[in-house]
Amino acid sequence: MDQEKKQSQCNIHPNFNNNLLLFEETNVHTRICPVCAKKLTKKFNKVIDHVEFLYADQNYIFSSFPPLEDENIYDIIQNLQIKKDSSVQEIFIEKINNYFITLKKEINQKLDLLQNEVKSKLIKIEDFNQNQGNSFLDIYNEISSKFDIQKLYNEYSQNSDTRIKEIIQEKYQNIKSNTEKLQKYLSEYQAIINKINLKTPIEIQQKILGLIDQIDFFQNNDIGNLEFEKSKSFQSSQSLQIQRLQNKQIQINQTIDGNCVSYADFILDPNKKYIFRVRLQTNLNSNSFLILGIIQEQDKDNKELYNKINYNERGDMMTIKKIVKGNNVFEGSKANIDKEIEMRIHLAQKMIKVANYPNYENVAELENKELILQNSQYRLAVGLYQSAHKIIITHISTVAEFDQNM
Ligand SMILES: [Zn+2]
Repeated sequence: MDQEKKQSQCNIHPNFNNNLLLFEETNVHTRICPVCAKKLTKKFNKVIDHVEFLYADQNYIFSSFPPLEDENIYDIIQNLQIKKDSSVQEIFIEKINNYFITLKKEINQKLDLLQNEVKSKLIKIEDFNQNQGNSFLDIYNEISSKFDIQKLYNEYSQNSDTRIKEIIQEKYQNIKSNTEKLQKYLSEYQAIINKINLKTPIEIQQKILGLIDQIDFFQNNDIGNLEFEKSKSFQSSQSLQIQRLQNKQIQINQTIDGNCVSYADFILDPNKKYIFRVRLQTNLNSNSFLILGIIQEQDKDNKELYNKINYNERGDMMTIKKIVKGNNVFEGSKANIDKEIEMRIHLAQKMIKVANYPNYENVAELENKELILQNSQYRLAVGLYQSAHKIIITHISTVAEFDQNM
């Protein structure tokens, strides 16, 4: 007992027990007193309580042990520990459920508030309070004299016959003024009705529904998830170099001159609307044979992309060239090109367009839409010829509706 007590007492500071552990790389003390520990290290997170260590159970995470390069990991694991009984799927379901509950609640609250505001505004507008339908009928009844004529028929006599004839004559004499009077009221009525303009609210409704369609928890169309592959046997394609840049963009070039094709790692969904952007770069070589387009699934590893459904910066051997806006998107054979092109694709509508980005000054579309076959599978693809040139995939996304830029 005495022996044990002696062991737990510091030799230098007998008033203190050796109840701590110090685990520094070049400074390991399996038992140490607090005063010694303070002298030996400035890093107090390397000091662990002896009791803490002894009683650490299966679920216990130390705040600085074992040594790691990233100190945040201890905290992260400690926080995750709380949820150790839930599967990853359950955590996702909970997060997604909470998201939708909050979204619905906030949208409903906002809409209820707006609806009430519009209602109280409406009550204050006097024009809307009058019963326009009634005054309309009053004027019509007056102009038509239908009750006068009715009365004359009811008390039918020789006299009423003359009077009816006179009234009808009058109607023809006043045909112009009566028409104008009714037209005037009609246009006033229309003007009031038109004060309620549903065009913008309906546009906003469409936009909101479109935005909701874009909610995606796994970002499948993010450029970070996109990969490009080499055509397996089309001419020089195996000389392609495909690398991911730091900003996630994908740079494609080749080591020898020759025709090459590279295609995306997924098949385009005909019902989705895709936006795809690439940067085209040439150096002093003016053979600006840089191609983007779509390639059929069965052609991707053995056929060319030029003369198919494609855009070519050189301006020839291409089909997406019907000018929709401005001038040609391509600049022709030219050295030192450095430009970005946006391509929009909606296969179900046989729509494929290109424009210079971000200005959209020039827009061109596929000349013969029948080139897009209905029951065929397509992939995004690019083509190159000069080893000095580069195509950089900068963006890919799907949208519910294309904006009006193109
Ligand atoms: Zn000590």
